[in-house]
Amino acid sequence: MSWESTSEYYRIINTTIGKRLGGFHSAKCILYSVDFHEIERCQSNGEWSTIAHTLSQAAICLEKAGADFVLLCSNTIHKVADEIQSCLSVPIVHIADVTADEIIKSSFTKVGLLGTRFTMEEDFYIDRLIHKGLQVVIPEFADRKIVDSIIFDELCLGIIRPESKRKYLEVINELKTKGAQAVILGCTEIGLLVNQNDTSVPLFDTSYIHAYQAAMLALA
Ligand code: GLU
Repeated sequence: MSWESTSEYYRIINTTIGKRLGGFHSAKCILYSVDFHEIERCQSNGEWSTIAHTLSQAAICLEKAGADFVLLCSNTIHKVADEIQSCLSVPIVHIADVTADEIIKSSFTKVGLLGTRFTMEEDFYIDRLIHKGLQVVIPEFADRKIVDSIIFDELCLGIIRPESKRKYLEVINELKTKGAQAVILGCTEIGLLVNQNDTSVPLFDTSYIHAYQAAMLALA
């Protein structure tokens, strides 16, 4: 997906393996990097079947190259996770499942969700969290629009603006006011903008959790 977050995945996976195994150890992994322009165009135009086809072909390449499991390095793209999974024999590690498991381990039951408009507004992601027993709150419409546009107009292009960070922190506080005990950074680029040092509200960064769990799964 956007290479800005893919590079974070690569860093987190290798750092985790390095810390666990020590010395020069790093992760054996196969990266299929897409042209995000093509994916983003299809997302904007609602051409999800084209995305499912493109990513299924990519995932098949990973499986043929020897991958034991597959990560889709974007929350949004999990909208077509089932279609991609149906083309594979190896499992997809679902980003919402591993995130929900971490939240439940911390004993939170009601969480705020930040992400693209697709992730915040559609069922494919929220239903997965609800299925795990979590209650989910999302920002109001105007804030959802801003959160989404900061992702696509700035973060996916590597642009980090202090005013956008301030806006995200405001929205996080708003979610807390609506009863969220913690907030999911449900877009893999949001961690580039805000992190736990910026707020007392507990944050669950999906790219970190997903990449870390992948490293642990590989080691297991
Ligand atoms: N990577 C982002 C996500 O986690 C959004 C950008 C994209 O559409 O891939 O949803």
